[in-house]
Amino acid sequence: MALNSMREIFRQMEQERLAFWEVVLAYDVEERQVSPEESKAKMLLTWQAMQDAADAYTGQRRSVSGLVGGDGMKMRQYNLRGESMLGEYVSSVIAEALSMAESNACMRRIVAAPTAGACGVLPAVLLPLELTQRQVLEALYTASGIGAVIASRASIAGASGGCQAEIGTASAMAAGALVAIRGGSGAQIGHAVAMALKNLMGLICDPVAGLVEVPCVKRNVIGAVNAISAADMAMAGIQSRIGVDEVIEAMGQVGRRMPVEFRETALGGLAATPTGKAVKERMQKAQNR
Ligand code: SF4
Repeated sequence: MALNSMREIFRQMEQERLAFWEVVLAYDVEERQVSPEESKAKMLLTWQAMQDAADAYTGQRRSVSGLVGGDGMKMRQYNLRGESMLGEYVSSVIAEALSMAESNACMRRIVAAPTAGACGVLPAVLLPLELTQRQVLEALYTASGIGAVIASRASIAGASGGCQAEIGTASAMAAGALVAIRGGSGAQIGHAVAMALKNLMGLICDPVAGLVEVPCVKRNVIGAVNAISAADMAMAGIQSRIGVDEVIEAMGQVGRRMPVEFRETALGGLAATPTGKAVKERMQKAQNR
């Protein structure tokens, strides 16, 4: 068995009468030649590392360029003052996404999901929820399976597929995970993944000065909020008109045809603005000192 299409996971679900996450668990057991208990124990360690990273955030650290740091704390305080225009859950998700992505930019320990640049999306939608251990496993195996399929059929790296491949994939993983813990069907997980990916298709990778700071930290927020809306649409019975594997293929094609300036080279988009160039120059001067 290989996790190279959503259709294959759906087929296994039907054939073996398993939930989506259980198919992914079975794959991990087979692939790594471990017991289900060993596989689950490793997944729970991953969850612990996500929780530890969130707990370690203080808002005090600044990134190497000085452009990033403290916004997660600003958002937490804004939420505490009851000023957010969003409900409690979504405003907490925004604060978590900012905090985790800032922690990455500030060289703290995070969990790449699927990459370090997009590390804030998946934990952000899960951490504010009070999840049972079973729900944590459901969410993380579902997300892993989705990430594996996208890595196999398209790309999960900004350098090869643009930010749609990195934040887009993280958003799709988070959307599927949310549907799984809400008790959605395999089909609903597929629709959530498709809608999350479609909404971010074409997003370029344009990190200022080549640092995973600007616009990366705030893109984690849009990935997380997009995931919630895609999951809610799927749970409401709304369907993607384009099948999920076709959407993944299309994302891969867009990525392959994306000009090199928009694939992590810091030669286009926000990196090529006067401000972006000035930051790069300042960083180069500092390095040469
Ligand atoms: S802009 Fe590029 S480096 Fe930044 S999060 Fe997106 S893919 Fe990653």
